[in-house]
Amino acid sequence: MIDSGMISKIQKAKEYADEPHRIQFHSFQVQFDGKHNGHTVTYRKGTWHCDCRYFQGHQVCSHTMAMERILGVMLPK
Ligand SMILES: [Zn+2]
Repeated sequence: MIDSGMISKIQKAKEYADEPHRIQFHSFQVQFDGKHNGHTVTYRKGTWHCDCRYFQGHQVCSHTMAMERILGVMLPK
């Protein structure tokens, strides 16, 4: 049984889902299955970290850059 309140919440959720700029992540951790190895990528208050070797020397890597592309406007500026 879905009441009218729930229907309006579902409608609002659909609108919000089309407006991802409303949401910004503070922190999260993901398992990233790369072509050769799996990596743990973390994001905390605007700073990325990846456990791959390339990241150690560059502070950026294909995994963090891919995450930026995927999450786009949901990351804080
Ligand atoms: Zn990496």
